[in-house]
Amino acid sequence: MNRAVLTGWLAVSFAVFAVGCSRRSASEGEAAGTSPASVVAESVLTDEGIGQRLREVVGFGPRASGSEGAKQLREWMIRGLEESGWKVERQVFVSTTPQGEVEFVNVIARFGAGGEGGGGKGSRAILCTHYDTKKFSTIEFLGANDGGSGTAGLLEFARALAVEPRLASRVDLVFFDGEEAVQQFSESDGLYGSRYYAQQLRQSGEAGRYGCAILWDMIGDKQLGLTVPSDTPVELMRGLEEAAGRVGLSGRVGRFSGPILDDHVPLQHIAGIPSMDLIDFDYLPWHTADDGLDAVSGASVREVALMTLEMLRDRLR
Ligand SMILES: [Zn+2]
Repeated sequence: MNRAVLTGWLAVSFAVFAVGCSRRSASEGEAAGTSPASVVAESVLTDEGIGQRLREVVGFGPRASGSEGAKQLREWMIRGLEESGWKVERQVFVSTTPQGEVEFVNVIARFGAGGEGGGGKGSRAILCTHYDTKKFSTIEFLGANDGGSGTAGLLEFARALAVEPRLASRVDLVFFDGEEAVQQFSESDGLYGSRYYAQQLRQSGEAGRYGCAILWDMIGDKQLGLTVPSDTPVELMRGLEEAAGRVGLSGRVGRFSGPILDDHVPLQHIAGIPSMDLIDFDYLPWHTADDGLDAVSGASVREVALMTLEMLRDRLR
């Protein structure tokens, strides 16, 4: 992600009139919140389980797009997703980067009937992250938070959602490749995976099925404090704040002073899906050799997962 001004993106964007997945009534939300299935889903999400996933993801070493580390991580991720009942699609494409052509692979997971199309306008949600790490020649960059936290969290979230098949079947889990810029973020460098994914969604005419997209990026800081971009759609921000309040995590949600260029931007401005970025950009080890396991916590990732789960339950029906 990058602090860059979004001028270029906004110049090619179009207005997003939808206001995100429609809300359920309070009574429906209460009923869902007390169902036995929902208790089980939370119990799958443990600090220890997510911490273990973090160690496993980081254990693959540097995971820059096109690298052996990225490939091995990806195949391990896919096995885990399939073991918990998700159908996985590899979205393979080649893009020209400042260092030549690179093959990128987005990983898209759908559950049950969710992979077979159908579903009305705005009836589905996208929950996404990036699994690549930034390539450095000077340091061994492990990206425990930047790349690792979202990946580990989403893998555990997939296991948790699987015990709520009805909800799981309404969510696409997407692990983007190529979030990181090879040199510097621009309209043609960085966000490779999300740009391609959003273009495909737009061209297929399927984008309208998705009422909202939620991105996780750098959610593992031991001192978690989300800095949600200032240009987040109002309806999604309200939904997040209400969900965080219901699970007792209001104190974790804050606002960034401006927009942030991250994988949610192509989803919003190319695919036209109301999108938000759950990110903690107040992270000193960002893009340094210190972004390792000592800087992250499974408990932080779990908190973001719990508020997201609450938000999805409330907004998908
Ligand atoms: Zn990064």
